[in-house]
Amino acid sequence: MTGRVVAPDAAGIAEAVELLRAESVVAFPTETVYGLGADAFSARAIGEVYRLKNRPSWNPLIVHVAGVPAARALAADWPAVADRLAAAFWPGPLTLVLRRAPHLTGVGAANDTIAVRVPAHDVALRLLAAVGLPLAAPSANRSESISPTTAEHVLRSLPDVPLVLDGGPSSWGIESTVLDLTTAVPTLLRPGALGLRALREVTGAIALRDAETADGAARPSPGMSRRHYAPRATLHLVPDVRSAEIPEKTGVLTYEGADVPDAEVLSADPREYAADLYAALHRLDDSGVETILVQQPPETEDWLAIRDRLGRAAAK
Ligand code: AMP
Ligand code: MG
Repeated sequence: MTGRVVAPDAAGIAEAVELLRAESVVAFPTETVYGLGADAFSARAIGEVYRLKNRPSWNPLIVHVAGVPAARALAADWPAVADRLAAAFWPGPLTLVLRRAPHLTGVGAANDTIAVRVPAHDVALRLLAAVGLPLAAPSANRSESISPTTAEHVLRSLPDVPLVLDGGPSSWGIESTVLDLTTAVPTLLRPGALGLRALREVTGAIALRDAETADGAARPSPGMSRRHYAPRATLHLVPDVRSAEIPEKTGVLTYEGADVPDAEVLSADPREYAADLYAALHRLDDSGVETILVQQPPETEDWLAIRDRLGRAAAK
């Protein structure tokens, strides 16, 4: 079976709902990246997500919901800080890890926690409203490879997905920030689109379980595989591409102010850089290079999520 890309009009949404209710899967756009959605209560649909992605079974899935009431229904308890975070950032690229309601079947049945968020994308929200189910949705790509920020990226990575709703390019272009609220102090599990500064204004202190990630060092926690977000070409982070030797069949990814001839030059603004990063890695891969030299981004907190993704893409 080969997947079809459809417009997210009433007919497209209706077709997606039919597939999801039949315990199949559908790729849909979110503001972060495209997700591979499945009924979060269906073991069969969840199994299909893991099979299509070739995702290791220990890597849990984020559940997408239409709003706070649907999120609360999945959680055993809902701390006051969750209300404040939801009021400030939902719909948006923030995933909250909570104690899981014990009676739930389906996603995360092996865990006592659940990860939830409300996506800030009109198509995702219309799909959630129409289907009336929480949707488990990891990024719609083969495990470990670059996340999709367009419908075309989805089909190239997962040609067997039955249906892709096309919502244009994802505006953030990088995964959500994952914050664990089951610890005494909220703990950052994955840096992402939403920055730490904005989060701290609501939560106060945040524990960084994940040490600095620029070197791609191994993580202790599950669901944080060391190699991830990787192109086919071998990726190397270099301190200064302007003084680097550039061998044959090598592409260069850098940003304004540190550019060299023939490089892919992204913005020096981390928000804009993140939005273009995965598409740039897809382009470099398509150009047939064997190696990609990447200018190391600045060490500041604004670049934390980007350093994390590049560190993992470079991991062997
Ligand atoms: P992905 O779906 O590939 O964007 O990644 C989902 C990420 O969400 C995982 O790698 C974890 O960091 C996090 N996550 C999902 N569910 C849980 C959970 N129950 N507990 C802790 N982290 C989770
Ligand atoms: Mg992913």
